Amino acid sequence: MSTAPTSVHAAAAALRESGGEARAGGTDIVVRARDRLTAGPFVELHRVAQIRGTAWADDGSARIGALTTIAEIAGDPALRAGYPALAATASALATPQIRAVATIGGNLLQRNRCAYYRNPAFSCFQTGGASCPAREGDHLYAAVIDQGPCVAPHPSSMAVALLAYDASVRADDGTSTPVGDLYDGADPTRDHRLAPGRLLTGVELPPPAAGESAAYHRATGRSRAEWPLVEAVARVVRTGTVITGVAVAAGAVARTPVRLTEVEQALLGRPAASESLSEALDGSTARCSPLPQTGYKAGLLRATVQEVLEQTLDRS
Ligand SMILES: Cc1cc2nc3c(=O)[nH]c(=O)nc-3n(C[C@H](O)[C@H](O)[C@H](O)COP(=O)(O)OP(=O)(O)OC[C@H]3O[C@@H](n4cnc5c(N)ncnc54)[C@H](O)[C@@H]3O)c2cc1C
Ligand code: SF4
Repeated sequence: MSTAPTSVHAAAAALRESGGEARAGGTDIVVRARDRLTAGPFVELHRVAQIRGTAWADDGSARIGALTTIAEIAGDPALRAGYPALAATASALATPQIRAVATIGGNLLQRNRCAYYRNPAFSCFQTGGASCPAREGDHLYAAVIDQGPCVAPHPSSMAVALLAYDASVRADDGTSTPVGDLYDGADPTRDHRLAPGRLLTGVELPPPAAGESAAYHRATGRSRAEWPLVEAVARVVRTGTVITGVAVAAGAVARTPVRLTEVEQALLGRPAASESLSEALDGSTARCSPLPQTGYKAGLLRATVQEVLEQTLDRS
């Protein structure tokens, strides 16, 4: 059973009354319904026009409606100019077919890809159980930064980019939450902290940084149609030869997207030169505590962060 309201108010009310889940592009939730991980009822969002598209405020900041598709973000010239790593991330994920229907709201709230969670034959913290079979079992694609009992890596590439841009998400009750606080690595029972019955209405970004150079890169097991093994975003602002602004975020390495503050601190105020870079890279793996099968991700994390930083420094 599903309903298709036309306003945020009606959609949020339908969500709360039904106790079901929202369906945006449907690329994650339909698969979970097929795998008996959700039974609905579903509140269709496609007619809620007021949360689709991008609006710009007078101070230059952008608000991207939750129903805006990944392809629309990737192809928007103003977003590409203001937030280049966000647009680059959108261009790189999944496939053109998925990007055409997948929404930014659904991307941020998609569920993890752990094979145990996705297999209804298994029980784990995420499905009401009391253990994590991945820890003792197959965890080749799991986290390398251990934040808590669940080790499924965070699945949203867009969250990594938004974290690097200090973005926030807004819910239908008007509350605004920094993207970093939308996720809690210590809680093994759920992939995000948006309360049940709440609707995400959009994403808000601070005004673009003048003179920013930015890059996104992913390490993958196959060239397309796959979540990354490791992904990273870097943003750098230089004043002359000195780095005066820097943000580095990584994904697929922990239960949440992570800001690599160790790398940022090592680069800030330093010359944009290769010596600064190699010292800073040592910090990229400072929080890694690999499981038996995820040690390779520490090396990939360092190499991926090196790639995005070299790209940004070459361009600036
Ligand atoms: C082959 C393949 C490769 C992929 N690779 C990547 C990748 O590299 N990186 C990446 O990030 N993703 C990847 N994806 C995942 C894809 O990007 C997501 O499935 C998609 O972004 C989800 O968006 P959606 O609009 O379809 O969400 P839906 O499936 O409609 O919803 C997902 C979840 O979000 C909730 N939801 C959606 N919108 C709202 C809202 N406004 N308010 C409250 N709840 C809401 C739904 O209830 C549901 O729980 C890949 C998918 C495939 C199939
Ligand atoms: S890693 Fe998380 S999702 Fe996977 S089995 Fe463990 S608790 Fe479940």
